[in-house]
Amino acid sequence: MIESAETPAPGAAPLASPAGAAGGMPLSPGVQLARERGIARLEQEAAQRAAVRARRFDSIAVHGIYGMAAALENNGSIIEPAYLSPAQHFADSDAMEATTSLLAPGWVYSRIANPTLHYLEETLALLEGYGFDGETSACATGSGMAAISMATMPFLAVDDDPRPMNIVATARCYGGTFQLFSERFARERGVEVRWVRDPLDLGEWAAKIDGRTRFVFGEMPSNPGLSVFDIAAVAELAHAAGVPLLVDSTVATPALLRPLRHGADIVVHSLSKAIGGSGMAIAGAIVSRRDIPSRVGPDELRADFATHVKLLPFRDHGPALSPLSALMLLNDLRTLRLRVDAWSRSAARVARFLAGHPSVREVAYPGLAGTEGHELAARYLWLVDGDEEGNPVNRFGHLLGFRVAGGHEAARRVFDSLELIWRATDLGKAKSVATIPMISTHQQQGESGRELAAIPSDLIRLSVGGEHPDDLVADLDRALAHA
Ligand SMILES: *Cc1c(COP(=O)(O)O)cnc(C)c1O
Repeated sequence: MIESAETPAPGAAPLASPAGAAGGMPLSPGVQLARERGIARLEQEAAQRAAVRARRFDSIAVHGIYGMAAALENNGSIIEPAYLSPAQHFADSDAMEATTSLLAPGWVYSRIANPTLHYLEETLALLEGYGFDGETSACATGSGMAAISMATMPFLAVDDDPRPMNIVATARCYGGTFQLFSERFARERGVEVRWVRDPLDLGEWAAKIDGRTRFVFGEMPSNPGLSVFDIAAVAELAHAAGVPLLVDSTVATPALLRPLRHGADIVVHSLSKAIGGSGMAIAGAIVSRRDIPSRVGPDELRADFATHVKLLPFRDHGPALSPLSALMLLNDLRTLRLRVDAWSRSAARVARFLAGHPSVREVAYPGLAGTEGHELAARYLWLVDGDEEGNPVNRFGHLLGFRVAGGHEAARRVFDSLELIWRATDLGKAKSVATIPMISTHQQQGESGRELAAIPSDLIRLSVGGEHPDDLVADLDRALAHA
């Protein structure tokens, strides 16, 4: 795109007040002009955002805020342009000064912000905020783990209190999160990690949250155990203690669950999974609502968490996402609801088949009556905008787990006999994938860590993708004969 001073490229930076940014000095006429143009640009984008918010989920997913006005500034391109340039050129020193001092919008340098990422962030903020009565903002990151690190570290700032700080988190979480909290935070920094063993037990959450808690963290549904928890009730407990609730909603995606509507403050995602279902990118995102509770950090952190993270900690830590990956994710997002609907229906069919198979001990799928937490899952997991007629309809996602009768060795034989379903540590893809968590995703946390996270050695995690379910059932049936 050809940039001009009249149309500064969109960035994520909100404007500082002139007094604050210029240290009380009057602005030079050139900086003032750049500021006025920037404000006009932001107003135009705010109007576009408000118009887009009135649309249905699929329409937002397809277009985000990239509309006709933005396209005309990009030689008419209907698809969001990929900005691969590491840095933004400025018309003159005034424009540069105005942008770098946050007096005018812009992106400056691609580690800090990037126009392609901006479109992805705006779409994610709108989708997570769909049906939620409030503003949302997003920060895209280089991986899901980067999103979880960036979303949690700001709450671990030191204070004057000599008592150790703690965090309260579900033990039934992604293996990387378990390692981040127990190795990086607990062992290396002395943060006390209070694991909640049974996320369905509200009494356990309540007993672990206290005056030194910095944040509360849950995963819904969890990978690989498919555990669920009552987001609204746990949010209430966190808020009563003055701390935020963070929810990893990777497995559900906003097509099935939007935790901000239920009282959560911050949502983290691995975009490498179902959101990026074609499987060509590693990425993550933080999405937050406005005015979250926190015991530490500046006012800006509470007022607009994702934007604060993007402007400061994210800039300094540097886990930026590639604009090419952002473009692929924008493409995948356009079909999110359709894919999640189809894959969920196939997963339910596969789960029913497995539940009736004599070589299967147990199936964990939130959609199966009899699975722990099924009633709660049915309260929270709905296909956004309902079925073809718009009637509300439960969908329970693409992920399931099953335990093979005969133990770990039998599970390995079944796993090794799969011919269509890939053996890989992956999920949420158009291609169905299976893994044995004990020897892969949850290998590093050891026997006691797996016991804490409820990961049995005979568990196979299965992510159902876009193949016809008949072929998946046939592959599993053939493989289970080797149990
Ligand atoms: C994969 C995953 C992550 C980590 O995401 P990456 O993009 O691999 O860093 C976090 N949470 C959940 C639930 C996941 O499945």
